[in-house]
Amino acid sequence: MYNPASKKAEEFISHEEILETLSYAQAHKNDEQLAYAILEKARAKKGLSHREASVLLDCEIPKVNEEIFRLANEIKQEFYGNRIVMFAPLYLSNYCVNGCLYCPYHLKNKHIARKKLTQEEVRKEVIALQDMGHKRLAIEAGEDPVNNPIEYILECIKTIYSVHHKNGDIRRVNVNIAATTVENYRKLKDAGIGTYILFQETYHKESYEKLHPTGPKHDYCYHTEAMDRAMEGGIDDVGLGVLFGLEMYRYEFAGLLMHAEHLEAACGVGPHTISVPRVKRADDIDPDAFDNGIDDDTFAKIIACIRIAVPYTGMIISTRESKACRERVLKYGISQISGGSKTSVGGYYEPEEEEENSAQFDVSDTRTLDEVVCWLMEGGYIPSFCTACYREGRTGDRFMSLCKSGQIQNCCHPNALMTLKEYLEDYASEKTRSVGEALIVREIENIPKENVKEIVRERLVKIAQGERDFRF
Ligand code: SF4
Ligand code: SF4
Repeated sequence: MYNPASKKAEEFISHEEILETLSYAQAHKNDEQLAYAILEKARAKKGLSHREASVLLDCEIPKVNEEIFRLANEIKQEFYGNRIVMFAPLYLSNYCVNGCLYCPYHLKNKHIARKKLTQEEVRKEVIALQDMGHKRLAIEAGEDPVNNPIEYILECIKTIYSVHHKNGDIRRVNVNIAATTVENYRKLKDAGIGTYILFQETYHKESYEKLHPTGPKHDYCYHTEAMDRAMEGGIDDVGLGVLFGLEMYRYEFAGLLMHAEHLEAACGVGPHTISVPRVKRADDIDPDAFDNGIDDDTFAKIIACIRIAVPYTGMIISTRESKACRERVLKYGISQISGGSKTSVGGYYEPEEEEENSAQFDVSDTRTLDEVVCWLMEGGYIPSFCTACYREGRTGDRFMSLCKSGQIQNCCHPNALMTLKEYLEDYASEKTRSVGEALIVREIENIPKENVKEIVRERLVKIAQGERDFRF
């Protein structure tokens, strides 16, 4: 029944295969020989199967666990260096016809303020985001065919790309909207989106159906097969994610990796990103109502094991997580973080009064983007506002082959420095600017090719003189 190349959800996410994987992992959690054999394979940095990675996740041998974290850090360094790509979510509308039990936007929540941005308000939000320094957005909207039809989403994307305030630009719009048809995915592709992101929430079908009692999202198979339809519609960068805390984390971990294996097997290219949100407090939602919450240690191990299992896939963490938690997991595989986020509709240009409350979840990391940028740099990271790949047509399998050969690094590092320089010139506080300028001087030396180093130096001078948007 289990078939990674099948187009049917219940065959590529086979419940039986997950149960067998979990019992195999449990049976081998103290099997040192097996754990070392898997780690040996992982050192080749070509990834692991869901079963192998599940054994590592369950492993209780302290020295093996140390090696898992060490290797995750090594892979992170090799593929992503010390760069962290920055983005912000933009909530367009919280109208939603679904009944998701963990989300305050669910239809029956009558005390949340419902809002949908007009195009003028989208423009104001984008200006506020550009004034912070953001270049990459992830747009979010509830599922509501009347209030948020695909035409509305497309119009918003067009508006977002059209706003150029001072030196500001939104250069990549990723989209996180409900599962839809091939035709609609094609329209999103034509609108120039970056990644299509859809969280599975949980791979456990029975739990999924209970957690989504009403609305179109109730259909597990339609939701789980969405990425296949997105790829059929021409979108070749897709982002997976589960909401940790809904089901047993081991189950979700295996399901997530099986989904990645399925995309490779059926569509020829794995996921572009994986997000790792955890259930959080929000209006009408108490995370304690879900009894599968995971502690910070387990969370860090999940991230390390995902990093080892899918080295080429970017990993995203949001402001749902605290500064301390984000600091810890950056080492083990996170390559993208949000900063200065607002999770309410219209929250950037008009911060909400307490009682209004249209937010999707409480933000734990409430620092400004400038504070996050400075903190990253002080921790030895390079905040990157790069969006070059999709604009240069490096998407899907083309992107993956550059990633797998390591060649993408030749673009990422100089692009990170040039986009950081733009940020420092246009938006940074005095302190951030001085930390950043010193970091750029140091990091130029880490560009291996002399000719590239020279081009970057020239372009940095041009950026200081007012030119923008250089990229490799
Ligand atoms: S998770 Fe998405 S689909 Fe579910 S209620 Fe919230 S906005 Fe709607
Ligand atoms: S060059 Fe491509 S992979 Fe590297 S940071 Fe920029 S967009 Fe991402």
